[in-house]
Amino acid sequence: MHYDGMTFRPPYEAYSLLLQVTRGCSHNACTFCSMYRTTPFSVSPLEEIVEDLTEAARDYTYAQRVFLVNGDAFCLSATELANIADMIHEALPYVESIGCYARIPNVVAKTDEELAMLAAKGYADINIGVESALDDVLAFMNKGYDVACAREQFARLHKAGLSFNLNIINAAAGPERIAEHAAANAALVNEAKPTLIFVSPLHVDPGTPLERLLGEGRFEECTLGQYLEEEIAFLEGLTLDGCVFFGLHVSNPVPVQGLLSRDKDAMLARLRAGMARIPREVLDSHPTKGAEGRLR
Ligand code: SF4
Repeated sequence: MHYDGMTFRPPYEAYSLLLQVTRGCSHNACTFCSMYRTTPFSVSPLEEIVEDLTEAARDYTYAQRVFLVNGDAFCLSATELANIADMIHEALPYVESIGCYARIPNVVAKTDEELAMLAAKGYADINIGVESALDDVLAFMNKGYDVACAREQFARLHKAGLSFNLNIINAAAGPERIAEHAAANAALVNEAKPTLIFVSPLHVDPGTPLERLLGEGRFEECTLGQYLEEEIAFLEGLTLDGCVFFGLHVSNPVPVQGLLSRDKDAMLARLRAGMARIPREVLDSHPTKGAEGRLR
């Protein structure tokens, strides 16, 4: 299989066949993101995709889900994505659905008819990193859209029958705005009705613009305890039914996963109990800056 540069997939796609159709990310400019900084964006040549599908048909004959990599494979045109879906179904007849990372602007760029056509071709539960429901936070993160635009795209995806997962970055608005960020995020996600919500803390990766902004004092990092407070407040605000809450990333200090609304109280209890077991000096430490508040 052709996997060039950095390749990422969501944790819950661990059993999906990864098919590379792009390298890097067409945006590659989010303030906090280091994922594809060293991998220039490009589209895979068709012959590489054909070779990979030939190999997959031989070695992963019974694959049921394909996840297209890399950073925002949904940036491809609807025609290109439809052709890839046709090739996948021909090579792998047991495939039931196709996922990928998608940016909000990738959805904007497609018509309602194209979104419905892609849903009919098997695209489902595409993974959208909406990250925040506050406009100034989205601007600070350089996400390239605002909340009103995101809300409009969620409605269009539902109308087209194309299901989606959402990523939320808790603690991204800083320690003074934990309650505000949690409430806004919960309201947006309640309205969006995704299949799954993936929560993770904001972490400051080396070499990112966010690391520089942190060093310049233009961004204040939440402590581990403040992150957990926000995750709890966010989960408390969710009123969804039939949606998976996924907090099992390695960066989640207290791992939780469950189905909303059935497991909501159990997950809240686990988060609170886990927080109570963490020593105060650890809760008061910053993931990047440490307990002493200085950059490591
Ligand atoms: S869209 Fe995703 S992969 Fe691309 S820079 Fe932003 S967070 Fe990173």
